Amino acid sequence: MPRILDGAAIAAAIKQEVAEEVKRLGAQGIRPGLAAVLVGHVPASEIYVRSKVQTCAELGLYSDLITPEDTITTEEMLELVMGLNDRDDVDGILIQLPLPKQVDAKALLDQVDPAKDVDGFHPVNAGRLLAGRPALAPCTPAGVIEILKRSEIPIAGAHAVVLGRSDIVGKPVAMLLLHQNATVTICHSKTRDLPAVTREADILVAAIGRAGFVTPEMVKPGATVIDVGINRIATREEFERFFKGDAKREAAFEKRGSTLVGDVHPQAYAMAGAYTPVPGGVGPLTIVMLMANTVRAAKMRRGL
Ligand code: NDP
Repeated sequence: MPRILDGAAIAAAIKQEVAEEVKRLGAQGIRPGLAAVLVGHVPASEIYVRSKVQTCAELGLYSDLITPEDTITTEEMLELVMGLNDRDDVDGILIQLPLPKQVDAKALLDQVDPAKDVDGFHPVNAGRLLAGRPALAPCTPAGVIEILKRSEIPIAGAHAVVLGRSDIVGKPVAMLLLHQNATVTICHSKTRDLPAVTREADILVAAIGRAGFVTPEMVKPGATVIDVGINRIATREEFERFFKGDAKREAAFEKRGSTLVGDVHPQAYAMAGAYTPVPGGVGPLTIVMLMANTVRAAKMRRGL
């Protein structure tokens, strides 16, 4: 039986550490603060941001939720961000994506002070990460490394194959794995004979946004599989394709009308030595790493 890497338990442990650090900083009169900008009313974004703000409260961080209407212009958003850059009570700035079409997201993210860029999306932080300098690393990739390390999965010398090359997940996770001395291969939609490449992986990180894309024959027996994908399925046909015979899932699916599946087919987990489930694997780490980054930004900004 493969080992299940329990992201929720790892996230809880990190939460505790962050809360203790916040307490220590509090004794020095410092309260790390996160400004979260949520534009408009995208339901998924509202859920994510609410949960980020809630976690701030839980861990003792200050948070400020800013909710402009979805008619806001790029210029108005730039002004808002510059204001946050100048505020001393704000250590981290989070701009929830996606933004409305009329807003130039790249221009905006480039305007965030790199010292407050707790999502790690600014080119300065991407460059620092590439150069192996201290940087605010993107939260999901940082969470993947935490899962591997805290689960004592050896990274150094392992062949890590990263499926996906986005700026948010694929590229940064590949870079972090490289810094941990893995031999890293990055795959994407143009990769030739993908199964032959993924089958070489001691550590396979799947981040492509395709439900159940990784099938059993793509996994080397005993590999560690990190499933970053979050895909909602809502049809009976899809459900049967992934979870046929799983009574617990079926009950949840019936109740909610949908369920989540990763980028890895559940049958492929059976090939692994260890894997992160969906939900409950990588997902819980993302928010907690945002908190950790905010505390880190607060300390770095004060030269601590
Ligand atoms: P993007 O859509 O930005 O990138 C997808 C990547 O996958 C691209 O590099 C693309 O290749 C590659 N890809 C797509 N289809 C294929 C294919 N058939 N074969 C090989 N490669 C393919 O996605 P993200 O990186 O933003 O997200 C990936 C997944 O991770 C999503 O399911 C998302 O929901 C999830 N996610 C989860 C988070 C969490 O908290 N757990 C946080 C962020 C994302 P190419 O570049 O050639 O087009």
